[in-house]
Amino acid sequence: MSRFWSRLTHELRPYVPGEQPRMADLVKLNTNESPFGPSPRALQAIRFEAADTLRLYPDPQATALRTALAAYHRVRPEQVFVGNGSDEVLAHAFAALLKHEAPLLFPDITYSFYPVYCRLFGISYETVPLDKAMQIRVADYRRRAGAIILANPNAPTGIALSRSEIVALLEDHPDVPVVVDEAYVDFGAETAIPLVASHRNLLVVQTMSKSRALAGLRVGFAIGDSDLIEALTRVKDSFNSYPLGRPAQAGAIAALEDEAYFQQSRVRVIEGRERLTRGLKQAGFEVLPSQANFVFARHPAHDGAALAAALRQQAVIVRHFGAARISDHLRITVGTDEQTDRLLSALSRILG
Ligand code: PMP
Repeated sequence: MSRFWSRLTHELRPYVPGEQPRMADLVKLNTNESPFGPSPRALQAIRFEAADTLRLYPDPQATALRTALAAYHRVRPEQVFVGNGSDEVLAHAFAALLKHEAPLLFPDITYSFYPVYCRLFGISYETVPLDKAMQIRVADYRRRAGAIILANPNAPTGIALSRSEIVALLEDHPDVPVVVDEAYVDFGAETAIPLVASHRNLLVVQTMSKSRALAGLRVGFAIGDSDLIEALTRVKDSFNSYPLGRPAQAGAIAALEDEAYFQQSRVRVIEGRERLTRGLKQAGFEVLPSQANFVFARHPAHDGAALAAALRQQAVIVRHFGAARISDHLRITVGTDEQTDRLLSALSRILG
C-alpha cells in the first residue's frame, strides 16, 4: 500500500501464477506445461533470429504469423489476432469486447484470471455455478448477459463441452460477444473455430503454451470475425504495438509447420493422461473426466491442501486452489511417464 498508488491499483487483486521454483530434481506438475520440449524446428527458427536484425523492431502486425495461423485454421488473416501469450489476448478481449451494461457471465469455477481482468477493466460480472458433476450447463446461461466467456475444456476441471453445446450457447445469445478460451483444446476437445464462419459474435482464443510446448515464448492468438479482431487490434495498438518479438513470431511459425511433431506430442500427453488417471483411481482418488493436459482429482479421505503440502515435501509440486467447492481437489499436470510414476509413488508413501 502506498500513497503513490492510484485508486485502481489499490483495488486490484492480482492473479497468482503457479510457482516456478528453481529446485533440482523437482517433479513440476503445477502449471500445465508440456513435459516434452518444443518442436526442434521451432528451436532452430528461434536461434536463427538471434542475429543483428534484433536491433530492428518486429512486424507490429505479425503478418507472416497471422497468415500461417489463418492457413492452418482455414480462415482469413483479418480473422486472426496474436498476442504475448493468450493471457494478453484475453486481456485485450476483456477490454475490447466484454465490458457492457449487462454483466459478463462466466462459470463460478473457471480460470481465475477472469475476475482479475474484470477488476482491472471495471467490468461487472456474474458467475454461473457448475452443476453437481462440475460441468458447465449452457442452459444455465439463459439470462441477461452483456457477454459470455467460457474455457473449453474448462480449467481447472478439464471437462469439455461438445461443439453442439457451444452452438446451443451461441444460438441462445446471438447478440452478445461470446469468447471461448481453448487453451487446452488440442488434448481431445472439439474446437469452435469452424463456427466462426457462421457466428459473428464468436471469438476463439488459443495458445502455443500447452500443446506446442512454447509457454516460455509467449504466443497466444484469437480467431473470430474481422470486426471482433479489429476491436482487439485497436486495444493492442493503444497498449503495445509490438507484443511479439522476432524470435516469438519465427518460432511460432516454425512450430505450426511441424505438424508431425505436434501430433506426436499431443497423443503422448493424451496417453499420459489416461495412465495418470488410472494410477490416481487405483490410489483411491476420484478423477474428473479430463480432455486437457491435467487432471482434477480429490481423495475422499484426505484434505487437498495437506496432500499438496505432503507432495511438496517429496519434491512433487501440484496445484491446489483454496476456493470454496474445489479446496479438496488437486490439479495435476500430465508429465512424462517417469514423472507420473514419481507422483504415484510419493502418493502411495503419503497415503500409506
Ligand atoms: N487460459 C487458460 C484456461 C489457462 O489455464 C491459461 C494458462 N494459465 C491461459 C489461458 C494462458 O496461457 P498463456 O498466457 O500461456 O497462453
